[in-house]
Amino acid sequence: MKQVLIVGAGFAGINAAKRLRNVPGVAVTLLDRENHHLFQPLLYQVAMAALSPADIAVPIRSLFAHVRNVRVLKAEAQRVDVDGRTVVTDCGEFKYDYLLLASGSQHAYFGHEEWERNAPGLKTLPQATEIRRRVLEAFEAAERDQNLEARRRHLTFVVVGGGPTGVELAGAIGEMSRYTLARDFRSIDPRQTRVILIEAGPRILPTFDEKRRSRWCRRRQREGRCSDSSVGSGGTRFRRRSHARRSARFGRARQGRTRSDDTRASRSLRAR
Ligand SMILES: Cc1cc2nc3c(=O)[nH]c(=O)nc-3n(C[C@H](O)[C@H](O)[C@H](O)COP(=O)(O)OP(=O)(O)OC[C@H]3O[C@@H](n4cnc5c(N)ncnc54)[C@H](O)[C@@H]3O)c2cc1C
Repeated sequence: MKQVLIVGAGFAGINAAKRLRNVPGVAVTLLDRENHHLFQPLLYQVAMAALSPADIAVPIRSLFAHVRNVRVLKAEAQRVDVDGRTVVTDCGEFKYDYLLLASGSQHAYFGHEEWERNAPGLKTLPQATEIRRRVLEAFEAAERDQNLEARRRHLTFVVVGGGPTGVELAGAIGEMSRYTLARDFRSIDPRQTRVILIEAGPRILPTFDEKRRSRWCRRRQREGRCSDSSVGSGGTRFRRRSHARRSARFGRARQGRTRSDDTRASRSLRAR
């Protein structure tokens, strides 16, 4: 029996294990430091309190519950002993015949590590909930503050990086302020929120085709919220939202919940 060891149950690790399921003569051990697989593309929705963490995380164990040749273990890989064909983890050593390292990547601050204190990365659930806490706290601080200039500062969000995640995040802050929170406050109008999207390159969404990119920009310009070097939005809406909605609907259906259950859940999340 060949021992295949997979480190990381992200998209890559899960798909590799699925390909190997029920393959004769192969025993798979799938290691991850977390007990859940995370759908990272929707992390920004958790960060903006539109989805709860449970909507985008699924227990790894449940994905392979009926697959006999895949064993799931929660452990953090620390070192690979290539000569000894062993992975050393925080809870023991695991031998392998074939090793698949699928432990993903880390966020980068382009040489400005000091920024992390002010702007946590967005790769894990704790980071998403921390961003959510800070954003909601900014609205609370603005509601408490009587000073207009201070209020304006609390309600100004700067997103650095005009790739898909930055654009999604900027859009989600706009949407949250324009729709979700619009009526929840008395002293401030969340619709006055400013979102500034900063991109060092000549254009945002550089990997998108020109047609889709300029359609997005034209829409923002019509709203008077787009300039060459920055895109501000007070309620950005774009196509990926429908993808998020579909996923949310899918998650709800699987868990036997309705949309109003989620609205209540979202309200209670915002209350935290
Ligand atoms: C906010 C955001 C939005 C995104 N949006 C999109 C999108 O719209 N479309 C798209 O195609 N892609 C998107 N991506 C990128 C996509 O999520 C990644 O390309 C994909 O998750 C990479 O998969 P992976 O399996 O290589 O790594 P990951 O999904 O990061 O999985 C790595 C796994 O390894 C585990 N791990 C790490 N280190 C260890 C260790 N030492 N020991 C044990 N386990 C370990 C982690 O817990 C994790 O489960 C987005 C990413 C982010 C962060």
